[in-house]
Amino acid sequence: MIKSLKYFDVKNRKVMIRVDFNVPMDGERVMDDFRLRAAVPTIMDCLQQGASVILVSHLGRPQGKPDNSFSLVPVGETLADLLELPIKFSDDCVSQDARDVSLGLKPGEIHLLENTRFHPGEENNDPNFSALLAKHAQIYINDAFGTSHRAHASNTGVAKLTPQKGIGHLMEKEIHFLKGIMSKPEKPFTIILGGAKLKTKVELIKRFLFEADTLLIGGGMVFTFLKAQGKEIGKSLVDDSMIPVAKEIIGLAHQRKVKLMLPVDIVCATAAKEGAKTSVHSSRELPKTKMGLDIGPGTMDRFRDEIVKSKTIIWNGPMGVFEVPGFEKGTMSVADAMADAAETGSITVVGGGDSASAINDFGLIHKMSHVSTGGGASLQLLSGKTLPALEVLEV
Ligand code: AMP
Repeated sequence: MIKSLKYFDVKNRKVMIRVDFNVPMDGERVMDDFRLRAAVPTIMDCLQQGASVILVSHLGRPQGKPDNSFSLVPVGETLADLLELPIKFSDDCVSQDARDVSLGLKPGEIHLLENTRFHPGEENNDPNFSALLAKHAQIYINDAFGTSHRAHASNTGVAKLTPQKGIGHLMEKEIHFLKGIMSKPEKPFTIILGGAKLKTKVELIKRFLFEADTLLIGGGMVFTFLKAQGKEIGKSLVDDSMIPVAKEIIGLAHQRKVKLMLPVDIVCATAAKEGAKTSVHSSRELPKTKMGLDIGPGTMDRFRDEIVKSKTIIWNGPMGVFEVPGFEKGTMSVADAMADAAETGSITVVGGGDSASAINDFGLIHKMSHVSTGGGASLQLLSGKTLPALEVLEV
């Protein structure tokens, strides 16, 4: 079993929480505090129970050496504002000074350690580095869902060395929605997939072709399916190596009586640029000189109809190039339909990554049952695979 926070008596104990503070930065400021807010319930619960808390995270890819542009200092400042509490900070996560600060922490105090990836031992999962990290605390809680598909020192190495280990509230919620609910979804069950890369979502599609009633496909991956059906896709994104897989998926959906819906119309332009002249075309034949960049209005209506009549909906990947104004409408319309479905009691789950940031941009996070904090990790869990950082927490 994996223990959740409620199994631990954390009073007067030092608790290391592996958080996922890998947030978008503009150099000096946190641009999106979604992941910081998601970590608050576990931190507050520990503090309120009289623990001292040591927070551990990575940020970006500093290549195993200190680099100020990846410092967690601005993250600590934003978190201190969110918690309305002071936070002690150490500029080296495994120095003697940092360990002394942890040792001297009083109940209710927080100590944030600098980016673990400033040391090569983090990504190499070096046991010596893990051993130094483990010295900070007696109890190890992993709440960093976004990195749980990786086996690094701060999420698997330390856990192996700490007998008292478990998961925090965020990790529990992620597992509940992405594994628990999805293994027994209330029907009708709809999956919406988009984004650019079909390759990264094939396993997920194949798994859910056993359970889903409807599969809606949008985004750049659509054109691989349309080409597999022999349609003209103009200059749209396509992965020719995945055409046989697209054909297989179409065949499997037919066999298992899953309603596979591809767009009936597509918004096209000559480039994915703001202000580009757009036109809507039937997906049966796109103009040879243009590329498909969003689902069209007819598709939006059809997708909405399916979404609002579903009881469980999971969505991963934008419907178009939503980052560019003019091509965000399809993604927005799916997000709106999901918010409406949630309002009438349906379970709506958004996988992490681009669809989560789209939902955030549209201000709809709080309307969903759950928006995952992890992109790769949510895909892996939804595909029915285990996550290394969770496996080591089994006791
Ligand atoms: P993924 O990481 O596979 O989920 O892909 C996300 C990316 O897909 C986003 O950056 C979108 O801009 C991109 N995308 C969505 N629709 C299209 C499209 N029609 N053509 C090209 N890229 C797209």
